[in-house]
Amino acid sequence: MLHTIQIKDHDIAFSCGQENVVLDGALAAGYEIPYSCRSGICGSCRGQVVSGEVMGGTGGGLTEEERLEGHVLLCQARPCSDLTVAVREIRPIDRSAIKTVAAKVFRMTRAAPDVTILNLRFPAGTKVKFKAGQYLSMQLEDGTFRHFSMANPPHQNDGVELHIRHVPGGRFSQRVADGLAVGDTLSVSIPYGDFHLREANDKPVVLLASGTGFAPIKSIVEDAVKRKLSRSMVLYWGARRAEDLYRMDLPLKWETQLPWFRFVPVLSEAGPADGWEGRTGFVHQAVMDDIASLAGHEVYACGAPAMINAARQGFTGSRQLDHDAFYCDAFVPSASAGPDTAPIARP
Ligand SMILES: Cc1cc2nc3c(=O)[nH]c(=O)nc-3n(C[C@H](O)[C@H](O)[C@H](O)COP(=O)(O)OP(=O)(O)OC[C@H]3O[C@@H](n4cnc5c(N)ncnc54)[C@H](O)[C@@H]3O)c2cc1C
Repeated sequence: MLHTIQIKDHDIAFSCGQENVVLDGALAAGYEIPYSCRSGICGSCRGQVVSGEVMGGTGGGLTEEERLEGHVLLCQARPCSDLTVAVREIRPIDRSAIKTVAAKVFRMTRAAPDVTILNLRFPAGTKVKFKAGQYLSMQLEDGTFRHFSMANPPHQNDGVELHIRHVPGGRFSQRVADGLAVGDTLSVSIPYGDFHLREANDKPVVLLASGTGFAPIKSIVEDAVKRKLSRSMVLYWGARRAEDLYRMDLPLKWETQLPWFRFVPVLSEAGPADGWEGRTGFVHQAVMDDIASLAGHEVYACGAPAMINAARQGFTGSRQLDHDAFYCDAFVPSASAGPDTAPIARP
């Protein structure tokens, strides 16, 4: 049965079957609502049900307060009636913005025991447009897709740099670790995602990364440098051990060169006994220990879903961060990032 979904304060309505989630109804109708993990984890796609009934969508990616206010996760909620829903943003999809190219492996660097930096080059003359923070979708030979965030800034547009963690038993990442060779070709579509610096304001920024979640953060900072932005940014980068902070030389260098940039590395499985004199514990907790109130800040968080979830709950729950000021990309296994795995680009 089809239901009508009316978007509050917009002249936008679309149909959605009750077996489908509202996010898919919007995408099928040609509208994009911000979303990331499609697994009910990251909270990016939340919306408030103003009228009508939904089934599902009240899981982990929401705080208790949001649940009480009628927010749901639109990647999980199915309509049981006609609905009016308030969303943070909605806009027509620009499918022409996505380019699919055959990219050649140009360089592979083992940056940590379980991280490879993969540089891909596009065919001669091919350039792609993306925003710092966005990701690409790579089609594997079996037809499935994997997503990876661009680590290079957008002005380097004749190829991409990807930071790939080797997942034990992972079909693609293990191939990167021990099978892929310089000269191999990979099919990639660019750009996807909604994780990029909002520039309508000058609020101080907290950048939060775990592991290879550093990749899009690198792109954002290098883009800010290129465009001579001077917005205050502090990066908290968490990992288990020092060698997992695989390009720590970069944020250390940025800190000495950029008056607006600060860096706080945080390790969860190392301490003074291992020769580590820096911060220890969970990376989101380090932010909460340092900043009593996140009111008036923006947070950009990227990496492990558990870290994203804990950060969102903690920052909005006890550090006064505005719910709409938390932007994230959760590195959920791509297989669970949605069956289409061809999310829609924001140019
Ligand atoms: C928007 C987005 C951006 C991403 N960007 C990056 C990036 O820049 N760098 C990066 O390294 N990864 C990134 N990922 C994750 C990446 O897309 C793949 O899921 C990951 O590389 C595993 O793929 P695979 O083929 O090796 O493993 P698969 O063959 O898909 O999985 C094999 C097994 O490992 C499990 N698994 C898969 N991923 C993980 C994980 N992360 N942790 C624990 N278990 C897992 C699966 O559930 C499965 O059981 C991103 C994901 C999303 C959704």
